[in-house]
Amino acid sequence: MAIRPILVVGNPVLRQKAKRVPRIDRSIEELVDDMVETMRDAPGVGLAAPQIGVSLRIAVIEVDHKVTVLINPEIIKLKGECEPEEGCLSVPGYWGCAKRAESVVVKARDLGGRDFRVQGEGLFGQALQHEIDHLNGILYIDHIADPDKLRPVEPRAERERARAAGRARSD
Ligand code: ZN
Repeated sequence: MAIRPILVVGNPVLRQKAKRVPRIDRSIEELVDDMVETMRDAPGVGLAAPQIGVSLRIAVIEVDHKVTVLINPEIIKLKGECEPEEGCLSVPGYWGCAKRAESVVVKARDLGGRDFRVQGEGLFGQALQHEIDHLNGILYIDHIADPDKLRPVEPRAERERARAAGRARSD
């Protein structure tokens, strides 16, 4: 396991449409391990492979102590609308309110090669949409037309928010 450097906005890899994972082998397992470690170290709620310079359709999310690994994820249903505040490890120092669906259903493959579906709302639903956007070269700031809707935040506040999300409990 290793912590990998996180690319920031301006790096062209973040703007590429990532390639599908053809086969889940040892190198993919190692990549996912590194992604989870890098996400926790940052800390962040989610991380997509392009954020560490690997243009493959893989994302990891950790909310409520639960890690979700998504390989070749696809959004199959979006419902409702909301405009929650969000941030991104690749856009450090800012938060902004992006338009999102309230609830989302995603189809993906897990590390064992099994297909699964997952439904998300709240922070988890937001993270699913945010990470899948990364795989299509889209950043949350692309959803914000008015730059006044972005606000600068202290790095410490960003870290505390991500830690609180990882620890948050649903009960
Ligand atoms: Zn992001």
